[in-house]
Amino acid sequence: VHPVEMQDRLQQFQSLCRQRGLSLTVQRQRIFELILERRDHPTADQVYEDVKVHVPGVSRTTVYRVLDMLVDLGVILKAPSPGSSTRYDPMTRHHHHLVCRRCETLIDLEDAALDSSIQLPGAEQTQAFQIESYSIHFYGICESCRSGV
Ligand SMILES: [Zn+2]
Ligand SMILES: [Zn+2]
Repeated sequence: VHPVEMQDRLQQFQSLCRQRGLSLTVQRQRIFELILERRDHPTADQVYEDVKVHVPGVSRTTVYRVLDMLVDLGVILKAPSPGSSTRYDPMTRHHHHLVCRRCETLIDLEDAALDSSIQLPGAEQTQAFQIESYSIHFYGICESCRSGV
């Protein structure tokens, strides 16, 4: 995340906490910052491994709770998960993913041309289900898996 965007995201997080009456602890803020810096859609365990280096004495349970809280506030998202563990995504604007079948890497994909060519299904197909958003996963093999690294 770009430094300017980082500031915006932190401010948004702070005002959401204020609105909901949640205290903005240094721990919570630091965990959020560390997630914003990642582009690899980490699992909760990977976030914890990262956080414990930067926030001494933090417990796994705390990290898990903060992750739930961040998802609940909508400042991060749960990403599509090719494996069994939930993955977290700091990018909240509309985007898609390239999913490597082999190493389970998730790569962000923004493609305006793709978005403008998509025709959402009509009410007949969705049985009156109200669609709010969509995100596409393209499955395949990433560059490093292809080159056998
Ligand atoms: Zn791969
Ligand atoms: Zn993503």
